[in-house]
Amino acid sequence: MTGTLRVLGLGPGQADWITPEASRELAAASDIVGYQAYVSRLTVRSDQNVHASDNGDELARARHALELAAGGAQVAVVSGGDPGVFAMAAAVFEAIDHGPPGWRELDVAVLPGVTAMLAAAARLGAPLGADFCAINLSDNLKPWSVIEQRLALAVQADFIIALYNPASKARPEQVHKAFAVLRAAVSGDRVVAFAAAVGRKDESLHVTTLANADPGRADMRTLILIGSSGTRLVERSSGTPFVYSSRRWSGAER
Ligand code: SAH
Repeated sequence: MTGTLRVLGLGPGQADWITPEASRELAAASDIVGYQAYVSRLTVRSDQNVHASDNGDELARARHALELAAGGAQVAVVSGGDPGVFAMAAAVFEAIDHGPPGWRELDVAVLPGVTAMLAAAARLGAPLGADFCAINLSDNLKPWSVIEQRLALAVQADFIIALYNPASKARPEQVHKAFAVLRAAVSGDRVVAFAAAVGRKDESLHVTTLANADPGRADMRTLILIGSSGTRLVERSSGTPFVYSSRRWSGAER
């Protein structure tokens, strides 16, 4: 049988945020490759081989998946959220780019999924209604100076900013530095939302302002949204306010 490789995402948490296409390809897989935390979310059949890794070496994982597919396996590579957003799909193509010529001829496909930013935005209302960008705060694969520069330019351009990977046990300080960059650049009344474990049973949402935000509340399961000058709150008598960004440009920065 000719091997195939499908790169798919499990969504940010909730089971019904996995697309039917991804579920179908998971069921068809002979081999499932992924980071332990994601693979453990799956119900795997006894006839499926699971290759769970506990390290962050995405390229090694991608090469392993490609070797299995080249050997004739039906391989599913799993990520959380969407597989193309700060996840395995890029590693798969990087491995193909630098790998044996035969890997280019393999039947490889990326299946779109629900990324954390979209799930968090939906919970909050419509904060991504106007132009936005996403920045990964981890400096494992890029220098911190580049991240600070991107943050400064993104707020200057008045984008709504989604911050992925804001903090981890190994990187507790950077989110504080990131907020210092933002506070130096724009007024303190910017809307800031912390969306943690969205779609999981311990989900929490916290809406505040740039001036009042405590960056220390972010952990590796948190996505932070920084509003643009046009991001507004709709307060309610109870519960988290709705957050939205009008699609209409409101003029000068507040
Ligand atoms: N491919 C994933 C992102 C991987 S980076 C995706 O598309 O969502 C991992 C980061 O995503 C986390 O540090 C966090 O910032 C964010 N994230 C993933 N799942 C999340 C969830 N359920 N709630 C909030 N943020 C989440």
